[in-house]
Amino acid sequence: GPLIVPAGEHSVTRKSIGRSALKVLDKLHEAGHSAYLVGGGVRDALVGLKPKDFDIATDASPETIRALFRNSRIIGRRFRLVHVVYGREIIEVATFRAAHSKGDGGEIGKAGRIVRDNVFGSIEEDAYRRDFSVNALYYNIADGSVVDYVGGLADLKAGVFKLIGEPVTRCKEDPVRVLRAVRLAAKLKFSIDEPTLAAMKQVRTELKSTPPPRLFEEVLKLFQGGYALRSFHSVREHDLLRYLFPMLDERLKAGDENLVSMLDAALTNTDRRVAQGKPITPAYLLAFMLWPDVQEQAGRDCEAGMRINDALFTAADSVLSTQLRVISIPRRFSGPMKEIWQMQPRLERLTGGRALKLMEDRRFRAAYDFLCLRSNVDERLKASAKWWTRVQTLSEEQRIDAAANRP
Ligand code: ATP
Ligand code: MG
Repeated sequence: GPLIVPAGEHSVTRKSIGRSALKVLDKLHEAGHSAYLVGGGVRDALVGLKPKDFDIATDASPETIRALFRNSRIIGRRFRLVHVVYGREIIEVATFRAAHSKGDGGEIGKAGRIVRDNVFGSIEEDAYRRDFSVNALYYNIADGSVVDYVGGLADLKAGVFKLIGEPVTRCKEDPVRVLRAVRLAAKLKFSIDEPTLAAMKQVRTELKSTPPPRLFEEVLKLFQGGYALRSFHSVREHDLLRYLFPMLDERLKAGDENLVSMLDAALTNTDRRVAQGKPITPAYLLAFMLWPDVQEQAGRDCEAGMRINDALFTAADSVLSTQLRVISIPRRFSGPMKEIWQMQPRLERLTGGRALKLMEDRRFRAAYDFLCLRSNVDERLKASAKWWTRVQTLSEEQRIDAAANRP
């Protein structure tokens, strides 16, 4: 049987859980179903971190859950689950699932990958199909206990990420688990168990055939979760950057120290904003990751006689199309990235009214921040960045004067 730690003997309480998630758990319980908080929410609460989101597992079917919550919808094909919506917050509720090999709702495709995963099962079966032992702990809303089928509590105490079951098989089922291990271990400052590490090394090349939209989702989690700097370094240590940003990876491997410090500054900046609860956009960091290649290609075209604006335009398209073969970047982000890039030479050079007009551009703030970070590693940009910092503090009249006399 499972290890069951009663309420009061572990650190998860109703207070660890967000209001909406608590409502969902209580309502499922009151309707006579079993209801558990599971995954990152339990894991993070147990180590004293504030959980980012709350996932719920229950024995109720998706249709039953759907009927119980007016504000809900059934989503997904590979995993059918229910989203219960409270304003901007979404609580994911999943029905316990068994191994994909059991029954006919599951399907294993090419290279041992899970294609469909909709066989319902018991809580125990649900635990075994999760990725890492520390991600398979259940908080029971009925009595406040934590239920552990896979040794997750011991691994949590030891601070180690361990794939459940046979590591190579589990990695092959879903190679994105390689990235998840690295990201979550970096976040929690955990180590990765040796056999899991060996499996990750063996399977990581299969990340190449991961659909670009899925990799984009994972990139967002890597860099917007509040631990971007640590995650990035961890991704590099495990030699995974080439599966996400191959062009950048080559540059870093060639030993571009300036690039390392610029990226560190951008990642630190992102983490700071997340910690302060300020909004962040992936466009900003992605713009940094691809900028060296955009800059180099545009520079080459400029030397060959192309005008800077055209050269940047062409380079942006070419670099993006190479990158998009690996991870997809929705237009709502690639558009702003191009605008940030296009503004760089303008911020560096324009004077007079044309310079001041840049301040009205909706991308000014991001483009100016971008220039400042670039100037940290490029002496030639220091004067430009300083000038823009000063101009923003001036009155309208003083600005006109400053712009007219910009060196
Ligand atoms: P965080 O939300 O902090 O990024 P998390 O562990 O909660 O981390 P989610 O993506 O929210 O990650 O997933 C919730 C839970 O679902 C996980 O803890 C794990 O139990 C299970 N899970 C998620 N992705 C996978 C996967 N690729 N394979 C197996 N189980 C998974
Ligand atoms: Mg989660």
